[in-house]
Amino acid sequence: MHGRDFIALAVIVIATIVGVRFARLKGWLKSAPRCQACGRSEPSTTLRFFKNTGMIIMFSWETQGGTLCRSCGLDLFLRMTGHTVVFGWWGMISFFVNWAFLANNLGNAVWALTLPGQAAVATGALDGHREYALNLIAAKKDHADIVYVLRQQTGASAEAIEAWLKTLRRQ
Ligand SMILES: [Zn+2]
Repeated sequence: MHGRDFIALAVIVIATIVGVRFARLKGWLKSAPRCQACGRSEPSTTLRFFKNTGMIIMFSWETQGGTLCRSCGLDLFLRMTGHTVVFGWWGMISFFVNWAFLANNLGNAVWALTLPGQAAVATGALDGHREYALNLIAAKKDHADIVYVLRQQTGASAEAIEAWLKTLRRQ
């Protein structure tokens, strides 16, 4: 592959991540509402990773996955892939199988990256309440009360709301 091909590939991967994440935030693409691993109410999707150990002639592999959020998915990717990158090559069959496992793991990691993290979810929910917040500010409502009602309605953290209100006031 030429350097140009790598750049084209990187652009396609990044465009996929940005585009699919946007579709998830907008609700055009449905995500599972809860992560099986950490139990948090975050956008989640089905992910599967392989771990491979080469042993001259044989190889042994295991797979783990489930409905996972972005951070649990990426954690699992690192755990499974780190081992595979080091121990996966050392076998006659394993050498070839390892490419398929790594390709699967990389593909699933890219898919995990399409999930909005907690911060993006909070910002998305807050942006839906933009007019509402602007009206409260225009009506000179107490700052702490504005933060309180936005917390109730969006589930975003107080810090996320403070930061968002700052950008709103600057406009
Ligand atoms: Zn999780």
